[in-house]
Amino acid sequence: GRALRRVPLQRVPFHLRPCALPSFHSSRGFATNVKQKVVCALYDPPADANPAVLGSTTGELGIRKFLEDRGVEYIVTADKDGPNSVFAKEMKDATVVISQPFWPAYITADRIATAPNLKMAITAGVGSDHVDLQAACDNNITVIEVTGSNVVSVAEHVVMTMLILMRNFIPAYNKVITGKWDIADIASNTFDLEGKSIGTVAAGRIGYRVLQRLKPFNVDLHYTDYNRLSPEQEKELGATYHETVEDMVGHCDIITINCPLHPQTEHMFNTALLNKCKKGAYIVNTARGKIMVAEDLAAACESGQIRGYGGDVWFPQPAPVDHPWRSMPNHAMTPHVSGTSIDAQIRYAHGTEEILQRFFDGEEQRKEYLIADGGKIVSPAYSQGNTTGGSH
Ligand code: NAD
Repeated sequence: GRALRRVPLQRVPFHLRPCALPSFHSSRGFATNVKQKVVCALYDPPADANPAVLGSTTGELGIRKFLEDRGVEYIVTADKDGPNSVFAKEMKDATVVISQPFWPAYITADRIATAPNLKMAITAGVGSDHVDLQAACDNNITVIEVTGSNVVSVAEHVVMTMLILMRNFIPAYNKVITGKWDIADIASNTFDLEGKSIGTVAAGRIGYRVLQRLKPFNVDLHYTDYNRLSPEQEKELGATYHETVEDMVGHCDIITINCPLHPQTEHMFNTALLNKCKKGAYIVNTARGKIMVAEDLAAACESGQIRGYGGDVWFPQPAPVDHPWRSMPNHAMTPHVSGTSIDAQIRYAHGTEEILQRFFDGEEQRKEYLIADGGKIVSPAYSQGNTTGGSH
């Protein structure tokens, strides 16, 4: 707790501090007389939690003073779902909405239609699929995220989950807390990572970091991505490139998914693709729940076609209590937490403040933060075939 409080946002000199007079300009540079209002959805902390946790409704991303000093109204709520939620009601006259993948306020076409002043949807994190990107483009709303802010946090979670599955950790732990000591039972399904083939769907910021972290385990690395890595990067990692995910999965003992959710990746892992995987392969997915067909995956885990599945992403979020992944065999699922470590929160809170400062000062946004802008999708990671180069 104390360590966290000793990292005030203000001490990080990432940009010029607020200017004396508020200047009401949008990122696209036009003046407006509209009241400036920011509406933000964050998760509630438990009652005894450190109130300084930036990603929660008490920490408020650390930007309340920054906004209020500029005369901007700032509403923060955890109540995000349904037409009568605080978020849905407050966004109707908002200029900016902020949401997070971990506790997503879905910015649907219907909601956008209720918000005529809305200019920008910020993702305090990485992954903006909770926004209807087409509707945002149609309404000239900029969609922007804090690119890179939690990619190490997620890559670490991916490697951890592979080890938890391969080492059969959860059943072993459960033996301990239930007073048992069955070695054979656990040992019959425990493997080393060394020598296995591991492939990533996407080698962007997270996928690349996963490959880097796996290399010292002496494994055989594979990847597929719209953008091929440079020959130097492939050589350094010892990674084999595959043109398509279908070409890759049959080579892998473990598959990790690290691409964004967009129309080409939604429901990509259905029964047909799961059957192309090696029998008994493991899958780790911290990208998005909707990349899987939930029931197909649960059936593949039941049949043993997939030996184990882990990750932290679901659809919808929070996942309903009867979501099939909660009860399927051999899973290592957590709620959506990998990208919201304390370290990541500090980074995405800073990034959100920088985006807002540029917005209110009419400055250009960082290009690598933009997902949709000027009525079109501009992120290369969300549009197939754009070969403007990898992003690491
Ligand atoms: P990135 O933009 O750096 O990389 C994404 C990569 O995916 C790009 O290289 C792109 O070419 C590739 N890609 C897109 N579609 C593909 C496809 N069909 N097949 C193969 N490759 C494809 O993004 P990143 O920072 O690595 O993040 C990736 C995703 O991870 C995010 O969009 C988000 O959905 C998810 N994420 C999850 C968490 C979490 O907490 N679980 C946190 C951050 C990001």
